Amino acid sequence: KHNPEGDAQFLEDESTKIFARKVADHYSARTNQTLEERENSPIIHLKKLNNWIKSVLIQLYARRGDAVLDLACGKGGDLIKWDKAKIGYYVGVDIAEGSIEDCRTRYNGDADHHQRRKRFTFPARLICGDCYEARLDEVLADDAPFDICSCQFAMHYSWSTEARARRALANVSALLRPGGTFIGTMPDANVIVRKLREAGGLVFGNSVYWIRFDEEFLEKKFKSSSPFGIKYKFHLEDAVDCPEWIVPFHVFKSLAEEYDLELVFVKNSHEFVHEYMKKPEYVELMRRLGALGDGNQDQSTLSPDEWEVAYLYLAFVLRKRGQPDRT
Ligand code: SAM
Repeated sequence: KHNPEGDAQFLEDESTKIFARKVADHYSARTNQTLEERENSPIIHLKKLNNWIKSVLIQLYARRGDAVLDLACGKGGDLIKWDKAKIGYYVGVDIAEGSIEDCRTRYNGDADHHQRRKRFTFPARLICGDCYEARLDEVLADDAPFDICSCQFAMHYSWSTEARARRALANVSALLRPGGTFIGTMPDANVIVRKLREAGGLVFGNSVYWIRFDEEFLEKKFKSSSPFGIKYKFHLEDAVDCPEWIVPFHVFKSLAEEYDLELVFVKNSHEFVHEYMKKPEYVELMRRLGALGDGNQDQSTLSPDEWEVAYLYLAFVLRKRGQPDRT
């Protein structure tokens, strides 16, 4: 029997899966770069700045011996940061098979990768899976609870439907211990929507990125006023080229509260840089990473176009309700 509503639901689920696959295939296809390729990237300083932001978040919240859950861990680009924080255990989950393989290689330290370093001191479990669909509380029942959950530059891939956004937050909440911390970075919807309005069209960007909204999607979503499934195409030179979804932060915040995750802070990346560059230890870290030069107009610092891309992102910290942190 014909059931229009059921069909619509079915279609939405199918297209959601197709988009999740697109995202996974995109990241899976991106192989590890050589050190030389990396240094020649048009966004090398942006990558370094993003690494600095993630390092600061990790240094602010990780404690020796912590159990860490890295959602959408990618190729394991943060493994060294966690090692420096002397964590006790690491679980990384990512939907992209190729990325998890690279992550495993990096963890095992047997690639011709640019690390000639000692093995990581913490045990790790690496899993290929969809963090926004799977019941990770079941998959990771023996590994939980975690002290920290991290989701870097990936939370927005959960915002294609309400069901996926809820699954993402339910997974984090179920796996964190009371008082545990959820740290992350994702696009700043306020900035993107403001730029869309200013652009007066559906596309905007600069020499290193562009964002394109789909007219049909915008109309549909503004009419239904649903805060989920507002899709755009994001292209970032030498990094990203796939569908993404707007995450209105106030919706993220209140949905997170439903899952006992309370906002500690949210800061646009520009604000984050200004705030933490007041602290000598993070200035020194920035110098070591080489994202910001000494102010001279040479190649050792972010270009204005890279700095504009940094502005598209925010960093957030949430805390799972319950007893305070261990002492
Ligand atoms: N967190 C890593 C980092 O900061 O280097 C990787 C960030 S990369 C921009 C986004 C990652 O999200 C990719 O590795 C991608 O495969 C992953 N991802 C996207 N959708 C996902 C999903 N549904 N479940 C798990 N991982 C997902």
